[in-house]
Amino acid sequence: MVTDPFTARLPRRTIPRVLNGQVALVTGASSGLGKATAIGLAAAGAKVVVNYIGPITAADEVVREIGEAGGEALAIEANVAAESEVMAMFTAAVKHFGALHILVNNAGMQRDAALVDMTLDQWNTVIGVNLTGQFLCAREATRIYLRQGINPEISAAAGKIICISSVHEVIPWAGHVNYASSKGGIMMLMKTMAQELAHHRIRVNSVAPGAIRTPINREAWSTPEAYEKLLKLMPYQRIGEPDDIAHAVVWLASEGADYVTGATLFVDGGMTLYPGFEDNG
Ligand code: NAD
Repeated sequence: MVTDPFTARLPRRTIPRVLNGQVALVTGASSGLGKATAIGLAAAGAKVVVNYIGPITAADEVVREIGEAGGEALAIEANVAAESEVMAMFTAAVKHFGALHILVNNAGMQRDAALVDMTLDQWNTVIGVNLTGQFLCAREATRIYLRQGINPEISAAAGKIICISSVHEVIPWAGHVNYASSKGGIMMLMKTMAQELAHHRIRVNSVAPGAIRTPINREAWSTPEAYEKLLKLMPYQRIGEPDDIAHAVVWLASEGADYVTGATLFVDGGMTLYPGFEDNG
């Protein structure tokens, strides 16, 4: 891994306990941003469902880490693109924890190709997981929130949905038309759900990460040359860490953000500030 002098100077940032008594479900929580977010939500006091796909080992590790820190978590396997698996996961989550207050729609993937080479399967797979998966999970969470109603002892909102989008909901990305389209779609999915659900006191927001150090973009930070190139896109001059996203998600889920709905919070070190114009005035 590249040594990053900027990250090395990051102070330790404690997550405040602002989610006591709440239950959260994080999709794709066995690695990267989902893992950090699940651990962050648990540190904030929430009980956490750790959704995963494939072998359970990594999800078990997240559950163990949360347990060792004094929290409660449960791993549930489901492919977010498969309707019946998503429905079964939400039923199992509520059966186990008795309620649901926070959904973090995080699961995502890339299948990159130039437009002219992209297969329909590459297109459908990415749209299926990144966009349809978020729709299916949001629908199931909303059904639960509407049934539950508001419990003011727990939260002023009936429920919260936080969509993990990307700077590519606004920045076009050559060679990744399926991924960028899925993230652009998430922007409208999020805003439309927010408009439709606000009167039920269900808050829907997005966190749009820039470049964060996870397995999904390893080739962009794992060599000094690649990292140097990446820094040119980031005015703040450091790569993001998964923890940066966990802090943003915890705040959006908390009572401090109770009047925030329909918003995209960019957590990108300034990547969406058109850094190419910095010395071009
Ligand atoms: P990651 O590859 O570590 O995590 C993605 C997770 O999604 C994995 O745990 C994977 O198992 C899970 N997943 C994939 N398909 C699934 C399915 N069908 N059902 C359930 N789970 C599934 O990468 P990450 O960087 O942590 O990505 C998390 C989210 O953040 C994604 O939506 C990604 O688009 C978004 N994002 C990441 C970055 C970044 O720089 N890392 C930037 C912008 C947006």
